[in-house]
Amino acid sequence: MNSTRKTAVVTGASSGIGAATARQLHAAGFDLVLGARRTDKLAEVAEPLGARHHQLDVCDTDSVDAFCAFVGSCDVLINNAGGALGLDRIENADEAQWRWMFEANVLGVVRMVRGLLPALRASDDAHIVTIGSVAGVEAYVGGGGYNAAKYGAHAVNDVLRLELLNEPIRVTEVAPGAVRTEFGLVRFDGDAEKSERPYAGITPLTADDVADIVTFVVTRPSNVNIDYVAVKPRQQASAKVFHRES
Ligand code: NAP
Repeated sequence: MNSTRKTAVVTGASSGIGAATARQLHAAGFDLVLGARRTDKLAEVAEPLGARHHQLDVCDTDSVDAFCAFVGSCDVLINNAGGALGLDRIENADEAQWRWMFEANVLGVVRMVRGLLPALRASDDAHIVTIGSVAGVEAYVGGGGYNAAKYGAHAVNDVLRLELLNEPIRVTEVAPGAVRTEFGLVRFDGDAEKSERPYAGITPLTADDVADIVTFVVTRPSNVNIDYVAVKPRQQASAKVFHRES
């Protein structure tokens, strides 16, 4: 292994944006350590890339600690693991769903940062990238739990940039709009018809479109910090405003 190569850790690398990011960072010359809960899917992504991989549940502190011990050195952390559950109005909020969204999207980021900061500090040019969402800055009906979680992740990202200002650690949030991944299937408990609705009449982003942005962000010169990137399909103006072709 070439010791000048940087190591990137990608959470939630078993599908969607995380898997695409792993492939593009590999192509850009990064060594990789990949984590997710579904180890069979994770291995399918990791093995063709020669990437190290380990089971990871960002909702479980012991799992995060074991994963971080496995990682070793780390220059770039991509906090991608997360997602949404349900689309209920707040009056019908399902506490278990809300709890999971906070655990995965907010505390998951916190646990990963806490676990890998010693390794990131040992790098002379480190970077933390979190996959937020347009839902992290814009409310929509039925978005309550996911909005609250991604607004929370957005705040964590901004606080981190302040707290790490005197260290060579960059902090970026990439906030996508509609991306065709397994996101909808997870949100709607495997209901394919419901999960397809957001993409009706539009050409959504692909996971690779977002991975391309992440790769761009982490390959800028070390004095360049891209704080925040919102990226949406051309036919999406805001969280819920779309131009749909019939
Ligand atoms: P996806 O295909 O469902 O991927 C989610 C990934 O996160 C999977 O690899 C999943 O792997 C992993 N994951 C979920 N919970 C986890 C946990 N507790 N511990 C570790 N890994 C976990 O959806 P995606 O669209 O690529 O989502 C990636 C990120 O983009 C999420 O943070 C999501 O909120 C955000 N995002 C998505 C969209 C969109 O429209 N798709 C828009 C804005 C933001 P395992 O199930 O194997 O653990």
